[in-house]
Amino acid sequence: MREADAISSLTIERYLTSRPKWIRWREWLAGRRYRVTRLGDDQRPLLVVAFQSPDRSRVEVLNRALTEDWIKVPSVCREAYGEILLRAPRLIVIQLRRSNVCGCLGHRHVALQEKPFAFPHDALGGESCGEMDVAYERIRSWQALPLSDTALDAKFLEGSRLTEFHATQFRLRLLSVVLHEIHHLVFPREPENRVRERSLNFYREALARYVESAIQTLAFTIDRSFSRFG
Ligand SMILES: [Zn+2]
Repeated sequence: MREADAISSLTIERYLTSRPKWIRWREWLAGRRYRVTRLGDDQRPLLVVAFQSPDRSRVEVLNRALTEDWIKVPSVCREAYGEILLRAPRLIVIQLRRSNVCGCLGHRHVALQEKPFAFPHDALGGESCGEMDVAYERIRSWQALPLSDTALDAKFLEGSRLTEFHATQFRLRLLSVVLHEIHHLVFPREPENRVRERSLNFYREALARYVESAIQTLAFTIDRSFSRFG
């Protein structure tokens, strides 16, 4: 059995349902939900997204970033986080928020807040997990690289391609914030500028690759539509 399988989504689901009924009922009424996922290439850690029930569609977007977009980024981007992911806690809770009072995009949590995961449990291998929050709407309005982001907009002009570009751009930002916070969790003494440099590089490279392949497809489509008149 691979180490990554030691805690699986089934382990988490079993653990959550093994808790007393009144606790689960109270949690359900309060709208608290959990979604287990992991990065698309099955890397550790296992991720548990904790969210409020009206945010289900936001969780889907985050999940797509973690699973689909992660495997599409250039391998050099994934490799930049290789050691960090290897050293990461086997289980990380991501509290999905819409915004943070402080205006930050996310934080690592020194003290765990999410009740079911706040203490090490035998059912989860007796290990303590890591925790962070990400501020979804704050990340949506965040201009990661103002100059190049605007320059790229011009390449897609308008219409459905621009919408698709913005959606991908946003998911890559979500992904870079999650990686940024995992970096903080694993190396708490690493200065902010170094953590930031790595996550911004990740975002820049991943976005550049997306733009490059999208433009190639666009050029191919134009070629084909012209050739029909030939
Ligand atoms: Zn930071």
